[in-house]
Amino acid sequence: MIKVAVAGAAGRMGQAVCETVEAAEDTELIGRADPALGVELADVLADADVVVDFTTPDTALANAEACLEAGVHVVVGTTGFDLEALRAAAETSSANCFVAPNFAIGAVLLMQVSQAIAPHMPECEIVELHHDRKLDAPSGTAKRTAELIDAAGGNVHQPIHSVRLPGLVAHQEVIFGGEGQTLSLRHDSIDRRSFMPGVLLAVRKVGGLPDRFTVGLEKLL
Ligand code: NAP
Repeated sequence: MIKVAVAGAAGRMGQAVCETVEAAEDTELIGRADPALGVELADVLADADVVVDFTTPDTALANAEACLEAGVHVVVGTTGFDLEALRAAAETSSANCFVAPNFAIGAVLLMQVSQAIAPHMPECEIVELHHDRKLDAPSGTAKRTAELIDAAGGNVHQPIHSVRLPGLVAHQEVIFGGEGQTLSLRHDSIDRRSFMPGVLLAVRKVGGLPDRFTVGLEKLL
């Protein structure tokens, strides 16, 4: 059994992660940390093999650093903070850190297909659309998609377009434009359950990763 604590357990993603961890046969939910529950991460850290963090951009780094200092593996889904500081903390730790800007398999496939298209149709724009309580913009997924397209020889036009509206969950479109043609890719997470298989995969694999710091669900597939 993998003992899992969830930081941000009262949040939209955290609640879904708690249900998923409780339902899986090989994971046990041993702690729920969240200001709304009156429980701090430090209160549950000692008993955990893995912490899953879905909190806020201004708390995720400190939470992950606390896990790494305690020798507890950490899976980070929170977006909108500086990953380089986290990389530095992970490299001096005895535990592993796994970060995914998007845990939905469809979003990861969209990024991979975008990389394949980029050398042939380099000019493109990204439109990301999320619910209106999302704190960061552009989304972590959009920033990661842009990095990967640029590395593959594409030219992502700036700015990335961020739409925030009630009714949305998490959506992204990449539009490539060439001579007399366009090519559009779109991914829609219409329910937070879309992220749960990826989170569970990361919980199972984080302890055995060859590197202290790993970014991207594609590294686990
Ligand atoms: P949310 O509903 O606002 O949940 C965040 C929760 O974390 C809140 O209950 C918040 O409490 C709590 N929190 C704040 N500081 C904390 C701390 N120090 N320790 C423990 N809990 C703390 O947000 P969400 O929609 O679940 O999203 C969470 C994050 O996940 C965002 O960064 C979002 O962009 C990201 N996300 C990632 C993916 C992915 O696939 N990687 C998918 C969806 C969302 P308060 O309300 O009291 O501050």
